[in-house]
Amino acid sequence: MSILKVARLGHPILRAGTLPLPRKQIKSDDIQRFIDDMIETMKEYDGVGLAAVQVHESSRIAVLEVAENPRYPKKPKVPLSVLINLNVTPLTDEMEEDWEGCLSIPELRGRVPRYKTVQVQALGRDGKTLEFTASGFHARVIQHEWDHLNGKVFLDRMRDLSTLAYLQELSRYWPEK
Ligand SMILES: [Zn+2]
Repeated sequence: MSILKVARLGHPILRAGTLPLPRKQIKSDDIQRFIDDMIETMKEYDGVGLAAVQVHESSRIAVLEVAENPRYPKKPKVPLSVLINLNVTPLTDEMEEDWEGCLSIPELRGRVPRYKTVQVQALGRDGKTLEFTASGFHARVIQHEWDHLNGKVFLDRMRDLSTLAYLQELSRYWPEK
């Protein structure tokens, strides 16, 4: 396994969108190795999610996991998930705002509104269909990754940029975050 280079904001691939992965390709050695590398890269940089475009591949793959994480302490846990050809449908109009960061936008956080509950459809790394409902922080992480697959970043979703802050200033001036 290897740790992949993470594309930062300004790299055109982050804005280019992605193509669905044919189901029969999922079990190929190349794709399985790539998924392993994505997981290792996410963990190396203490991310809670990573989309393929962030490591310079235009395919519709996201990985996520919320475990003990120094970048996101006190967040509910989400088991390691691989979501291929991810599609997300809001189940309610209700939204909530919370802080988000992104490995492609290092050091910055901002408050982002997200749907509280979403329906998730995807294929797992075994090619089988996954369908489930996610809410709260889990739903937030999935919406963040889904945006990456569609060429968007969390800055695009902020209602205004007044909460955009560097981590150091955030811990100093917003200690409750
Ligand atoms: Zn991100």
